[in-house]
Amino acid sequence: MERAYEALNEYFGYTEFRDGQKTMIQALLAGQDALGIMPTGAGKSLCFQIPALLFPGITLVVSPLISLMNDQVRALLQSGVAAAYLNRSLTERQYLKALQNARAGKYKIIYVSPERLTTEGFQAFAQSAEISMVAVDEAHCVSQWGQDFRPSYLQVPDFIRSLPQRPVVSAFTATATQTVKEDIIRILELQSPVETTTGFDRKNLYYEVQRPADKQTALLNLVSRYEDTSGIVYCSTRKKVEEVCDLLQRSGHLATRYHAGLSEEERRQNQEDFLFDRQTVMVATNAFGMGIDKSNVHYVIHYNMPKDMESYYQEAGRAGRDGQPADCILLYHGQDVVTNQFLIEHAQENERLDEETQRQVQQKDRERLRKMTFYCHTQDCLRKYILAYFGERHAGFCGNCYNCGDHFERVNITVDAQMILSCVKRTGERFGLSTIVDVLRGAKNEKIFRLGLDKQSTYGLLRQVPEPRLRASVRCLIEKQYLHVSDGDYPVLSLGKNSKQALLGNEPVWLRMEKETKKEPAAKPREMVAVNPGLFQKLRALRGELARKQSVPAYVVFTDASLQEMCRSLPKTEGEFLRIPGVGQKKWEKYGAFFLQAIQEYQPDG
Ligand code: ADP
Ligand code: ZN
Repeated sequence: MERAYEALNEYFGYTEFRDGQKTMIQALLAGQDALGIMPTGAGKSLCFQIPALLFPGITLVVSPLISLMNDQVRALLQSGVAAAYLNRSLTERQYLKALQNARAGKYKIIYVSPERLTTEGFQAFAQSAEISMVAVDEAHCVSQWGQDFRPSYLQVPDFIRSLPQRPVVSAFTATATQTVKEDIIRILELQSPVETTTGFDRKNLYYEVQRPADKQTALLNLVSRYEDTSGIVYCSTRKKVEEVCDLLQRSGHLATRYHAGLSEEERRQNQEDFLFDRQTVMVATNAFGMGIDKSNVHYVIHYNMPKDMESYYQEAGRAGRDGQPADCILLYHGQDVVTNQFLIEHAQENERLDEETQRQVQQKDRERLRKMTFYCHTQDCLRKYILAYFGERHAGFCGNCYNCGDHFERVNITVDAQMILSCVKRTGERFGLSTIVDVLRGAKNEKIFRLGLDKQSTYGLLRQVPEPRLRASVRCLIEKQYLHVSDGDYPVLSLGKNSKQALLGNEPVWLRMEKETKKEPAAKPREMVAVNPGLFQKLRALRGELARKQSVPAYVVFTDASLQEMCRSLPKTEGEFLRIPGVGQKKWEKYGAFFLQAIQEYQPDG
């Protein structure tokens, strides 16, 4: 392990391994297979990069996305590690050249897409090379029960079997349920792997769900608050991306966009603009972001609710990778549920599956969507909800989510609850939430009159209750299983398994209601201020200049966290500079002199 610490310090400039990293690295260095389940930002990459540096042969990293590979290779090269990627972003000539270099033993780490593994050229190389490890990133892609099945991943085990000598195999994913985990081990043929699951909690992330009447205004308010710090806005469709990006641009924000409908060239360009801080807001579909290591993303806003918690947590997790406080805000509207239901019914990936499997997959998807929807309605601690979803316990009251703030009051709705339940029952358990609310509020619309619902005994009984509160009450009854909602396009309410207690009035029913006075969105202004803001600005400018000269994103040179530490400790010597987290030997050699000079010359009041 001593050599692992040396490598950590020399190449990456860190002194300690994080939870889980040590276990993984120890196992791999001892020649054991390993499976790491670690949330985005936990530090997966080092788990295979450090062993890769110490193994005698080459490490192949299988990765699903070009952007992921290119980003990681760029960062490795900056740290002085010989690395390359082999994917279709290379021209034929570049590809052959890279293969030739690989054959000549020039790389320690090669990133490769799963499709390439079984091609003739690559096979020829792999047969003759010394391959010490195959690391499979985003390993949940092998499982059709995962949220992101990729058939090309099924070629990985074939490839490994075809090698003259079986290398160590490691697999990594940010999210895996028990089924997916078993699939990963079985399909990738991991041999008694050492397993590590690091906690899913990301303490620096703040969570909030807003239910704005007007999403556009809500979004503009939020984005303005973050001013010139980087953020991502996720939308569910390409069309929405266009619309929202346009809206932000018209309002004077530096926004760009990313979705599968754009040309590859434009996607690359826009992504680079965002990585290089030339544009501050990225508006994108879920096609954007896997493997984007941009560390200074300060907020992730979901303009639409995603299809499941796995997607949400992965996307939201792209905020705050540098450990700085960051916000994850979801703008919810009931229409989002409908859109997602449509997408589930029309999922194209599923067409390759047989009918029975298709049905099962759809059912799982619907279940996941339901859990996602509950997240948007729960009044419990959002962090607790997320962690519980991934099988972790949390006491609640995290103090860093909207629901843990002081925005709520408890309202006794026992009587309302009885009327709601009785209305559902008397109208024959045939209607959905909106109709029930209409009946109780005595609405005068076509449907009510056509179905004679105005003749019901519960018609207009809760006329005095404001509609949002009535809707919230119904949802609260659903959450507590007083009411049941059916599946399908037209969810119908019926009495749930706990309804008896409430109808008999044996149990008081409480609703946590948002206080009416508090309308301000809770997003807090970012505190990016270093100990020494003037110096921080200066170092940032220097970093930007150095990055531009080499055409790499600024955070690849140094992270904000490293710059802040420089402002705090004001290093004067090589030794002091090397003690800054994120400064390794290579970066000292490349940049040390510039930064020491800038720090020395800086006059706080000048
Ligand atoms: P993941 O791939 O799990 O999403 P990364 O490997 O990109 O996460 O790591 C996230 C961030 O944490 C990176 O900026 C990385 O440099 C940093 N990091 C990883 N390991 C350590 C460590 N042992 N000490 C300090 N920072 C670390
Ligand atoms: Zn909380």
